Amino acid sequence: MAFHAASGTADLLPERAHDFHLIERAAQQVFGLYGYQQIATPAFEQTDVFVRGIGQATDVVGKEMYYVFSQDAATKLVEKTALKADQRLALRPEGTAGVVRAAVQHNLVPPGAAPARLWYAGPMFRHERQQKGRYRQFHQIGVEFLGAAEASADAEVVLMLMRFFVACGIPAEAMRLYLNSMGDDDCRPAYRAQVRNYILAHSGTLCPECQRRADTNPLRAFDCKNPDCAAVMADAPRITDALCPSCAEHYAQVKALLVTEGLAFEENPRLVRGLDYYTRTVFEVQVDAGLGAQNAIGGGGRYDKLMEEFGGKPTPGLGFAVGLERIVLVLDELRVARGVPPATEVFVAGVVGAAASGTASVAGAAGAGATAASSTAAASAQDTKLRATVFSTAEALRVAGIRTQLDHQGRSLKSQLKLADKLGVCHCVIIGPEELAVGEVVLRNMQSHAERRVPLQKLPEILVEELRSG
Ligand SMILES: [Zn+2]
Ligand SMILES: [Zn+2]
Repeated sequence: MAFHAASGTADLLPERAHDFHLIERAAQQVFGLYGYQQIATPAFEQTDVFVRGIGQATDVVGKEMYYVFSQDAATKLVEKTALKADQRLALRPEGTAGVVRAAVQHNLVPPGAAPARLWYAGPMFRHERQQKGRYRQFHQIGVEFLGAAEASADAEVVLMLMRFFVACGIPAEAMRLYLNSMGDDDCRPAYRAQVRNYILAHSGTLCPECQRRADTNPLRAFDCKNPDCAAVMADAPRITDALCPSCAEHYAQVKALLVTEGLAFEENPRLVRGLDYYTRTVFEVQVDAGLGAQNAIGGGGRYDKLMEEFGGKPTPGLGFAVGLERIVLVLDELRVARGVPPATEVFVAGVVGAAASGTASVAGAAGAGATAASSTAAASAQDTKLRATVFSTAEALRVAGIRTQLDHQGRSLKSQLKLADKLGVCHCVIIGPEELAVGEVVLRNMQSHAERRVPLQKLPEILVEELRSG
């Protein structure tokens, strides 16, 4: 039977993997400009980390988590024996909860210290309904900026996010940045109650899910994709009218800084990020191309209560996450060229099996093809020596930093050259017994087909020079 990748997962074939690599490199470069360092937390955590950090009432935790059981835990589960906290494990559905858990565990933001600036990259897991650009194992890059409460921190994070997308190759004019404030503990409870009352007053026109949300998570009704719900929620009370003076001031400062830096944004009072932990500034970046109705490529916000939720000291924080699959879809749709460097630059070919056929020189052997090798011991010894030279020459080129391949399967010179052509190499090194006898090899330029003899000893430095100039 033939296996295939589990539904909702995708193999990243080399070209895609290279896209992901370029995006990670853009992250490293741009986030590095702002003093961020990379962190890597485990792909699974105790389930309670996500329940505490993201909220039981969210779809992410309530409906979409993948649980992880050891054989022992699975047996207990079948026997209906209670599992210890350390046996209740889940694959991470997002990156923030794990990073904040790690920041508390390792005391990364001690009182009075500079804020921690961390970024991460890796696979996340959610059992979602399948649609374009959505996977059950998907990849995110995100940042967490822990320890700064000021509006300038929010503005800096938003500017960095936009700079990162541009570094990935998405033109600034293709993106729209949406901004909102979700208030804090002083003003959001009253606002939540207003929305709850609004939902109850309109429950006849809302979907059953949104009616339930009145009691679990009323703000989530703003995210409902049902057109009737969207129409009703368009007239719901606006958070921006309900902010307390200090939240309103914070929000005004964020906007003023973005204006000063010339970054265009739109305010969207219905933008309430799906996760419970956000306070004050939230933002989302959307594009028109490639993603259908789900056109967000990244977003984030402030979460000033989250460190406390994990048992840390009160520590403000904020961050964002972006989806790599979605960025790649957008780059494809916008036909953004990604320079894929050739996997191989130089091919080292050997003229083997030629000794007895009287075509020992390179020029003659190229046309001779798969002439059967003589079985004489002398010819065989010569082949062995030549193969060893091909092998060590390829290694010497790699040491010099040149991407090099050679044939391991005993192909004729003709098919070695054909293979080199297929690999798209710019130069071929051809080693034949006659040239080798005087310490030389033939260097062929695959574009111009020009050939010259060069000393084997000098080959690495000659090729490095050629590749640098070409
Ligand atoms: Zn609804
Ligand atoms: Zn407030």
